[in-house]
Amino acid sequence: MPYYWYNDKIDSHGNHEVHRSNCKYMPNLHNASYIGEFTYDFQAMQNARKLSWKKFDGCFFCMPTEHHG
Ligand SMILES: [Zn+2]
Repeated sequence: MPYYWYNDKIDSHGNHEVHRSNCKYMPNLHNASYIGEFTYDFQAMQNARKLSWKKFDGCFFCMPTEHHG
């Protein structure tokens, strides 16, 4: 199962981008927060929203079904 992280820094839309750990756009781990290990991308998004009230968006490259831009 992939490991998921979110970027501590916001993108241009004010969202924290969520990535799979093997994504080439993964931020440096010093700038990322661990979400967990999940089977499906949507589970990572749900759990990110449980961890924090921040706004999240899936990465365009590693989890396009959760990317809303
Ligand atoms: Zn990514």
